[in-house]
Amino acid sequence: MANASIRYGATIRKRYQKIKMEKRTLYHCEVCGRDAVRRKNTSIWECKHCKTVYAGGAYTMTTPAGSAAKRLIEGIKTG
Ligand SMILES: [Zn+2]
Repeated sequence: MANASIRYGATIRKRYQKIKMEKRTLYHCEVCGRDAVRRKNTSIWECKHCKTVYAGGAYTMTTPAGSAAKRLIEGIKTG
């Protein structure tokens, strides 16, 4: 009983740490070349360095629709 609860707690902690780490991960910015892209909102990522905004997944930056969304955002930014 005691052993089981300890193992359960460890699993939750581990999973929480993993999510936390993924959220804090800095991604490579294609515009300025620095690893400074951070998740800003759900599906919105922003480079701390050059302020470029990327659209991506909620927890990671790479999604199949990512490149299309990126083009759209770039179009709004320049136009
Ligand atoms: Zn950048």
